[in-house]
Amino acid sequence: MELLKKLILLSLLMINASVAGAEPRVDVTKTPVSLTDFSMGYFIDDSQALTYQDITALPFTPTNSKTTLGTSARVTWFKVILDNATGEQQQLFVHLPHAYHVRSVDFYQERDGRLVDQQSLDMEEIDDDPLMYRGTAVYPLTIPAAQSTTLYLRSHAYSHQWFAVEVLDEQTSRRALISIKTDIALLVGMMLALVVYNGLLYFATSKKENIFYSFYLISGLVWIALSYGLIASTFDVYGSGVFKLNISLITMPIFLMLFMMAVFETKRFYPTEHRVLQALLALLCGTLIWGLFDISAALKPASSLAALMMVVTFSVSISLYRKGNPLVVYFLIGHSFFVLFNGIAVLFYKGIIAHSYLSSHGVGIGIVLEALTLAFIISHRIKILEDIRASQEELKKQAATDPLTKLYNRRFFFSEADYLLELAKNRGTPLAVLVVDIDHFKQVNDQYGHSCGDQVLVSIAQTLKTHSRTKDLLARFGGEEFVVLLPEADLQEANRCAERLRAAVQALEVRVNDNDLVHSTVSIGIAEVMVGNEGVEAALNRADKALYQAKHSGRNRLCVETPFIAEAQPG
Ligand code: GH3
Ligand code: MG
Ligand code: MG
Repeated sequence: MELLKKLILLSLLMINASVAGAEPRVDVTKTPVSLTDFSMGYFIDDSQALTYQDITALPFTPTNSKTTLGTSARVTWFKVILDNATGEQQQLFVHLPHAYHVRSVDFYQERDGRLVDQQSLDMEEIDDDPLMYRGTAVYPLTIPAAQSTTLYLRSHAYSHQWFAVEVLDEQTSRRALISIKTDIALLVGMMLALVVYNGLLYFATSKKENIFYSFYLISGLVWIALSYGLIASTFDVYGSGVFKLNISLITMPIFLMLFMMAVFETKRFYPTEHRVLQALLALLCGTLIWGLFDISAALKPASSLAALMMVVTFSVSISLYRKGNPLVVYFLIGHSFFVLFNGIAVLFYKGIIAHSYLSSHGVGIGIVLEALTLAFIISHRIKILEDIRASQEELKKQAATDPLTKLYNRRFFFSEADYLLELAKNRGTPLAVLVVDIDHFKQVNDQYGHSCGDQVLVSIAQTLKTHSRTKDLLARFGGEEFVVLLPEADLQEANRCAERLRAAVQALEVRVNDNDLVHSTVSIGIAEVMVGNEGVEAALNRADKALYQAKHSGRNRLCVETPFIAEAQPG
């Protein structure tokens, strides 16, 4: 067994010899010491079993102090030699600002070929470890005057190896530790505000896309806060429990799919695309269940799944765009941001492009930009829905009114009358009806023509409207006949109202054909509704009878349905 291990080490030595460069050395002489960007060496331990003794003999591959080595570099060793050329000893602090991201880290300090100190940090059992401060591992070391120290770091990651090391003096170390992650807090705060806003929108509109968008945002902000250390620095929590929150990386696309289905109404309008989205959704849900049991394993195919998702969402969006969906173009823009910045991040994670703020924060930036464009889609859709609602409202109005006089029609009158009758019943108030008919209207048509007749009809309708009370319900029942429902009016009050209408029409002059003045009169039948004993229609029939009487007794007058109550005479 021992022999086998030696053989493996020897072969590793030979393989790595070709890629190994010069030993990575860092000069810590110049004060203040604030080294955040320097070269060091790494060695990926696929066996995950190598010890400090094993590793010292192996060659390291050069890389930067901020690096990323992908998901296969679970256990990686880093090496750097710190040279103190001054005549005094140097008190330094080695920071690992991404320590919150890993399972464990080990520090080995070697001087003159001898191990002088060794420390281990297991994030699972961190409880008040002095080496851990709000997500950053801090390892203090002292280098005597004119000496060198070789530092070996073993980083055991849960998923991808995202590593950074800094060498600082006491003052810069303290400053780094109290600095707040303002940028990340800002992104997360912005997304939280959107979550609240969309939650409110959901309660106002009951539209499913608002709730899916909210969950998408929550997944995104959890991942950003977790990944960029905000959760670690704010709540001082690490380890596998917190690592489980990476499930948000799977729930994010799930809610994005659901959002797409809801906002584009794919089930109803684009059944083919809907099925494609459903298939992807099923795959993602499978991964989610896997992730609930073993998040670390489920994250392994995450980048392939993400690539598949992007292909599908892009194809579906383009297809919807070609079919003329007005919203999808914004989705395409937002999703392009997402793909672009994530692409940069993936290249960084795979170690293809160098570390920069953009490359290391690409996923977060992509998520936020996409989230903002999705918010735009939601507001745009609200506008579309509002337009639809307005045109439905207009249709409803058209269905309720008479196109010529713009008064309510018979249908609307009866639906409203039922309600007013109910109201009168509950309140114990009286209710009356008038039936108004223009006198000898046929003659107007015969004398001036049908279109002048229309003009007169409209003017009379307008006069009736102006002289009835605000609470009265006035409708054109057809031809030259109108009906008025008078809430809170007994026969006396109904008489007063009817007389006002009659007098107003009598006083009306309508100018037609430039200089002809048309005068008209109306006859009005009045009846009080026996609230609680009859419907409005029965009262209308009695009012109709009264109207008939009014016509027969000379027109331009009012007539009440009961012969016992004296009819009011004009003038
Ligand atoms: P009275 O009610 O006083 O007995 O006489 P009248 O001439 O008004 O009664 P009648 O019911 O015989 O005639 C009603 C006329 O109203 C017949 C029709 O030409 C006219 N009329 C009905 N609707 C319209 C309309 O929308 N526009 C015009 N211009 N005329 C209409
Ligand atoms: Mg008439
Ligand atoms: Mg008539």
